[in-house]
Amino acid sequence: MTPLDILRNTFGYQHFRGEQENIINHILAGGDALVLMPTGGGKSLCYQIPALIRPGVAIVISPLISLMQDQVSALQQFGIRAAFLNSSLTLDEARLVSRQLRQGELDLLYIAPERLMTTRFLDFLDTAQIALFAIDEAHCVSQWGHDFRTDYAQLSILHQRFPSIPRIALTATADDPTRRDIITHLGLDKAKIFIAGFNRPNIRYRVVQKKNVRRQLLNFLEEEGYHGDAGIIYCLSRKKVEETADWLKKQGWPALPYHAGLESEVRKQNQTRFLHEEGVIIVATIAFGMGIDKPNVRFVAHLDLPKSLEAYYQETGRAGRDGLPANAWMAYGLQDVVLLRRMMEQSDANEQHKRIERHKLESMLAYCELTTCRRQALLEYFNDHLDKPCGNCDTCLEPVETWDGTEAAQKALSCIYRTGQRFGVHYLIDVLLGKDNPRIKALKHEQLSTFGIGQELNETQWHSVFRQLIARGFATVDLEGYGSLQLAEKARPLLRGEQRISLRKDIKQKAKLKNKKYNRSSRQTFVGNDKILWENLRSKRLELANSQNVPPYVIFHDSTLDEMVQQRPQTLEQFAKLSGVGSSKLERYGQIFLEVLDAHSLEYGNETVIKTTTPDFDNILSNTAQTTLEAFNQGLSPEQIAEQRQLKLSTIYDHLSQAIETGKLELSQVIQLSETEIHEIEDKLLERPIEEQHILKPIFEAFEGHYDYGILKCVRAHLWR
Ligand code: ADP
Ligand code: ZN
Repeated sequence: MTPLDILRNTFGYQHFRGEQENIINHILAGGDALVLMPTGGGKSLCYQIPALIRPGVAIVISPLISLMQDQVSALQQFGIRAAFLNSSLTLDEARLVSRQLRQGELDLLYIAPERLMTTRFLDFLDTAQIALFAIDEAHCVSQWGHDFRTDYAQLSILHQRFPSIPRIALTATADDPTRRDIITHLGLDKAKIFIAGFNRPNIRYRVVQKKNVRRQLLNFLEEEGYHGDAGIIYCLSRKKVEETADWLKKQGWPALPYHAGLESEVRKQNQTRFLHEEGVIIVATIAFGMGIDKPNVRFVAHLDLPKSLEAYYQETGRAGRDGLPANAWMAYGLQDVVLLRRMMEQSDANEQHKRIERHKLESMLAYCELTTCRRQALLEYFNDHLDKPCGNCDTCLEPVETWDGTEAAQKALSCIYRTGQRFGVHYLIDVLLGKDNPRIKALKHEQLSTFGIGQELNETQWHSVFRQLIARGFATVDLEGYGSLQLAEKARPLLRGEQRISLRKDIKQKAKLKNKKYNRSSRQTFVGNDKILWENLRSKRLELANSQNVPPYVIFHDSTLDEMVQQRPQTLEQFAKLSGVGSSKLERYGQIFLEVLDAHSLEYGNETVIKTTTPDFDNILSNTAQTTLEAFNQGLSPEQIAEQRQLKLSTIYDHLSQAIETGKLELSQVIQLSETEIHEIEDKLLERPIEEQHILKPIFEAFEGHYDYGILKCVRAHLWR
């Protein structure tokens, strides 16, 4: 069997992604490899497929004991002979695995490093036939990251003891120091390095200015329609984790806390619920996440600023591993800047270490204050490159305006100076605005030249100015923790008028709400009968998962269920064509899911309803919509296309509206309406909450049938675009 055969037959995927095939071939040829690939990139297949082809058992070293069970379950679902050895097994269970191992009944064995390093196990390996060693989460050998494991540092022993067995080290952490550490500590100097592009196009990055963060979070969840979806919310402190989880629960969201201070039983239970149930939200400190391979985490939200872009990228990377649209949402404000700056200055690390930390924080802050494409900046930071702005981050979707803030900055900085560099932002703003404040009077600051010179901006705007000045290092925050600001060396040229500064105009929350498109999730969701079917498929999946005590995604990914709804397979043969259905899953579950589909079509027929097909991040139309578009561009009318393609006219309008929404057609090319008429329809649409805009019936009725559904769809597409 070739790697491609296995990909198709066993895993049910049609094509390799990126470098997968090259990596697999390299290992098959006996080479060592270092694989740097973002989370969700598809690292596992790079060792799983060679494990199935090379004779003997593949040893997979992983630090994540609590997740081995799920990883192994997932493989077993594909009909692969896999097992794990770690301290969570009972003696009997461990014996069983050892026996399977000795009798050559395993293709893959997952093992914790401390177990591997025992003399007994190493001796055993001397006698066994080994296909390869895979070292997962290889960055754990590096002291640079926060995941350092001493056991990992000893893994070079593999190279010395088994020089002829191929080794593959895998990680999503790509910075240079980590990479160098991996190579040195694992003895991988001869390994071929595979670096995948780091872009995660399905993740939409957003940074909002913190106002009332809980309310903002709630709005985000509601606007995206995240009921029933899984997500992760990161906070800095344990206290905030608990409070946020509690509060969300009171608002009706199934949130669970996770941090190092919880009892390990509770932690484990919460993690299991997150993995095994649908739609659980975990509120966590950074203690949560490494190796969480739940593919359908729909969002990652940061309520506090991460310490570095590395951390941010890794954490946000946990969203959307399944490749479906996902959100990375972060709230950021002046307090974050102040807090982190102070934490860093107070840290007792040595000067060199501090310098690195400072640089990392600068990059993080710069990212928050960006006025250009966030994805481009992120990738640039990781030495990757994106030619064009991405179109799927907040700054792309809603360009940020800038203004010449030189004069404002000068006023703010000199106000810091004149008041003796002893006051916090609130006080400084009061002085600038000339407020009647007893403290100001007491200190005679109303006599200062900066008193009342800042009336051209309001309080919020001054806040924004100060935040940006601190974020960009023109002012620093005191070490004692009172929040008072001082001038930095960098402020001089600005104060002297030798330098100008351009500041970002923060987007007003209200203005943002008007822009419906911006707030709408780009995820495809189903409506009407399709939604009923999707839910039925999902509960069947959950039922099957529960009965085997595995997470639902191990049975089928959401994307496979999506395809069931869209394609309505009726035979096993058609079912086998769905992505993610290999021979083992076909045999186990094909019939069961076909029955659900069958029951549904008996009740509702086999037509798929209008989907809220939204442009996907690649702006690619479905094949069938593409065909319609081509016919339309050749001059056929919608009616003619329907006739020719033997499709309903409404389906053709569906396709055309998709083309409008993705910018491939202009509204005016499809329908002849006056501006007034278009506005009239748009206004009616906008009166409805976003999550209801996909239902057109009320609009249709509001105009008493004057505009037919095809027209309404196209106008809506125009609006959404
Ligand atoms: P990583 O370990 O790099 O984070 P995984 O190996 O968990 O990523 O893969 C991410 C997801 O992508 C998995 O759910 C996997 O099944 C899927 N996947 C990997 N390779 C392919 C492929 N060639 N075609 C389709 N899906 C794939
Ligand atoms: Zn962008």
